[in-house]
Amino acid sequence: MSTSESQESRWKAEITRRLEQGDDLEFSIAQFAQAVGVLASDQALIAFLDGLVTSTTARKIEAYRCPVTLCSKVLPAGTITSCPYCHTDYQQEGEEIVVEYFYRLEGETSREIRWVIVIHGMNSRAPWQEEFSWQIANRLRYSAPVLIYKYGWATVDVLVSPFHRRLARQLGERIRIAIEQATESQRPPRPDIIAHSFGTRLFSLILEDSSFDDLKFGRIITAGSVVRPDFDWGRQIAAGRVEAVLNHVGAKDKAVPLAQYTIPGAGPGGTVGYAAKTVLNVRNADFGHSDFFVPENLRVLISNDGLWHSFLTHPLARFRPDGVFETDRGWKPASLLLRVLARTLGYTIFCFVGPFTWLRRKLDP
Ligand SMILES: [Zn+2]
Repeated sequence: MSTSESQESRWKAEITRRLEQGDDLEFSIAQFAQAVGVLASDQALIAFLDGLVTSTTARKIEAYRCPVTLCSKVLPAGTITSCPYCHTDYQQEGEEIVVEYFYRLEGETSREIRWVIVIHGMNSRAPWQEEFSWQIANRLRYSAPVLIYKYGWATVDVLVSPFHRRLARQLGERIRIAIEQATESQRPPRPDIIAHSFGTRLFSLILEDSSFDDLKFGRIITAGSVVRPDFDWGRQIAAGRVEAVLNHVGAKDKAVPLAQYTIPGAGPGGTVGYAAKTVLNVRNADFGHSDFFVPENLRVLISNDGLWHSFLTHPLARFRPDGVFETDRGWKPASLLLRVLARTLGYTIFCFVGPFTWLRRKLDP
């Protein structure tokens, strides 16, 4: 490869990076030249940037600047005879307006994480929660408030569906209050959601409950999901309820495959993936059911180049992280007989163990 070719491939890589991250989409020749370490007068660079305009990757924008050195402000569009900032009359002073060119890449800009609701799985007092709040508050570029929804202990309760609906309703009502509070403090009304394990099931129930139709969400991350692979995420996205969904799958997850036998209405979305085409399924080869929240892993996921942070902030049109896969659309729930047997066992356990759980909840809420 000749020097000029390798130079041009570096420039191309810089353009791709900006488009993928949605950052620095607008720049002058001088700014881009500085970023890639060449002179602004470099003819090859100017030809390269004009090539972007020809291929409609970028638009060329003309801008006008006040010629008075101490002012140098960008002037509003339209015919201007005097500066609205320093009040210099150009004709009187014999000054010429400076014309500058900017390039604007035709891509979506990056997105801020506005606020996040975390819905955990069973056993609410897992130590990762404190670590998570701390990490996310420290790692994110923006000060995005995080609400970690606590529903107390849920253990044998997950075996019977009326409890799911009750928990989902409580969660939905809590989210509604949080959205009202966010709106009052001038935050956007849509929270981003990170849900794990049984929390994914609760979140899916809120989406299906018409009494929560008023709640709308930003980007959703489900980790170790027990939502059925055929859940209609596509409809939720198309209807504007949900902006986008990342389904993070652990290849070594041993809990998710059992979900449909123990939790009514659940399924192995967290191993099989979701069938909806508009969802992004991503598999991590090393993760088990709860490895997403091990502090070392969590730190990586929400660091600036981490999968979760990138999903929440980058434009998604070009977002193809490592481990992306499409699910086998042929998933069917296990046979009804098997599920009925398993669930009968579940109810039996519930009837025996339930009262003790109730007692413990009273004693140790
Ligand atoms: Zn001026």
